Amino acid sequence: MGKGLEPIRSQFSTWYIPNVRVKESQRNHSSEQKLRQVFSLLKMSADPYDVAIIGGGVVGCAVLFELCRQGYLCLLCEAKECIMSGASAGNSGMLHTGFDAPLGSLELQCIQHCQKEIFGILQKFNIPFEKCGAHVVAWTIEEKEKLQGLLQHSHEAQISSAAIQSATNLYNMEPSLRSGALSSLYVPEEAIVDSNLLGVCYAHHAQKQRSKILTSCTITGFRENVLTTTHGPIKARIVINCAGLYGDTVDALAGLHSFQIKPRTGQYCVFGKEKSHLLHSMIFPVPTERTKGTVLFRTVYGNIVMGPTAEETQSRDLPKPDTKTDKILAKRACHLMPALRQPIGSYVGVRPATQWKDYLIKKYPEIGWLTVGGIRSTGVSGSLGIAHYVSESLKTDFDLEPSQGASKALEEMCWKSGEDGASVIMDDYTYPMSHPIFQFGHGKYTSKL
Ligand SMILES: Cc1cc2nc3c(=O)[nH]c(=O)nc-3n(C[C@H](O)[C@H](O)[C@H](O)COP(=O)(O)OP(=O)(O)OC[C@H]3O[C@@H](n4cnc5c(N)ncnc54)[C@H](O)[C@@H]3O)c2cc1C
Repeated sequence: MGKGLEPIRSQFSTWYIPNVRVKESQRNHSSEQKLRQVFSLLKMSADPYDVAIIGGGVVGCAVLFELCRQGYLCLLCEAKECIMSGASAGNSGMLHTGFDAPLGSLELQCIQHCQKEIFGILQKFNIPFEKCGAHVVAWTIEEKEKLQGLLQHSHEAQISSAAIQSATNLYNMEPSLRSGALSSLYVPEEAIVDSNLLGVCYAHHAQKQRSKILTSCTITGFRENVLTTTHGPIKARIVINCAGLYGDTVDALAGLHSFQIKPRTGQYCVFGKEKSHLLHSMIFPVPTERTKGTVLFRTVYGNIVMGPTAEETQSRDLPKPDTKTDKILAKRACHLMPALRQPIGSYVGVRPATQWKDYLIKKYPEIGWLTVGGIRSTGVSGSLGIAHYVSESLKTDFDLEPSQGASKALEEMCWKSGEDGASVIMDDYTYPMSHPIFQFGHGKYTSKL
C-alpha cells in the first residue's frame, strides 16, 4: 500500500464510517463528490485490499473481525445504510450448541468451533448474554419416546451435558409452565445473546484494527478482481460474498449460479418485560418431520417471546407482521404459560435458506472469489466457526497470506445505549440497532465504561 494514499483513504472513509450519522447540513456535497472521484482514481492505482467482503450481516462482520485479526487488509461493503439490518435483524438471538444440527454437517462444525471461542469474546466485548439452557418438552407419550432419539443425537453432536429431565425437575425449573408436561430433554449450554450488538462489536473491533467499512455501498459487478460499486471500483485479491438474502444474485455478478435463495420468514410475538420472571430457559417443542416448531424464550433484555414461524415467501425484504399469525402465536404462548397476558408487539425475520440444508461455502480460487451462502438459521451461533473456516480456506485454497502483522489480541469494547433507544454509542461512533430484541428491550443499558 502506497503510504501517501493512506490519509486520503482515511479521510474519505470518515464520510462512510459505518452507521455514523452525519447531519445533512454539515455535509459539503461538492467537496465530498470531488473527494470520492479522487479516491476512486487513487484506489484503482493503489495496491488492492487483501480481501473485500460483500455484506455486513453477522456473517460478513464475523469474517471481517477474524480476517483482520489474522492480519489481512480488509474492506467490507454493505448496501444498506447500516450494518446488521438484513436477515441478521430478525432472529431469535439464541446461541445454539448444535444439539439438533445435522451430524457431519458444516453447520455443526462451525457451531462447535464458535462455542469454544464465543463466550470469552462476549465477556471481553461486554455483550449481554446468558446461558439459560433449553428444554425440549414432551407433552404426549409419542413425544416422550422421541426424546430418547434427540438425546442420542445430542450426545453424538458432542453435547454431553444434554440429559432427560423428569416432569418434577422440569417444573422445579419452570414452575409457570402449563401443567401436563411428561418430561424434557434439557440442554444447559443453550444461550441467549444480543446478536445485533455482537455483529456491531465484530465490525467495530475490525475497524479499530485498520479495516474499512463502507455503508450504502452496493456491489453491482465483478471482473478480474475488481468490484464495481456505487462508491466506484474496488480492487481486492479475494472477494468474499456474504450477501445473505442476496447471496445468489451477488454470485451471479461473478458468473456463478450454483444456488438459489429461497427466503423463509419467521414471525415472533413479544411480551412485556414485567413477565420476565415467569421464564428461565427456552421451551422448545419436540420437532416433527415437517417443522421445528415455535419456541417460548426470554431475550437478554427480559422480554418473553414466542416464535419464529417458518413460511416460504417470494420477497427478500422484511414484511410487516401478519395479524392472524400474531394472534396464533399469542394464543400459543398463553397456552404454554397461562400467566402471560397481552403481547406488546411482534416482528418478522427472513432466513436466507437455499435448496440445500447445510451452509454453502464454495471456493473459486481461479477468479479470487469465495461464497459464504445459505446461512439460514444459525448464523449467529456459527459466526466465528464460519469466519475460522474462511480464514483457513484463504491460506490453503487461495494461497493468500496476510499482508499485515497478525494481532490476535482482543480489545475490550465499551458501549452505551443512544437516547433514541435504537442505537449504541462506542468510541464516538453511533451504530443504529435495527434488531427488535434491542428496540423492545433496551432500557438505557450501558456496558462498564
Ligand atoms: C426468523 C429467524 C430466526 C433466527 N434465529 C437464529 C438464532 O436464534 N440463532 C442463530 O444463530 N441464528 C438465527 N437465525 C439465523 C441468522 O439470523 C442468519 O443465519 C444470519 O443473520 C445470516 O447472516 P448473513 O450475514 O449471512 O446475512 P444478512 O444478515 O442478510 O447480511 C447480508 C448483508 O449483505 C448485504 N448485501 C446484499 N447484497 C449486497 C450487495 N450487492 N452489495 C453490498 N451489500 C449487499 C445486505 O444488505 C445485508 O446486510 C435466524 C434467522 C431468522 C430469519
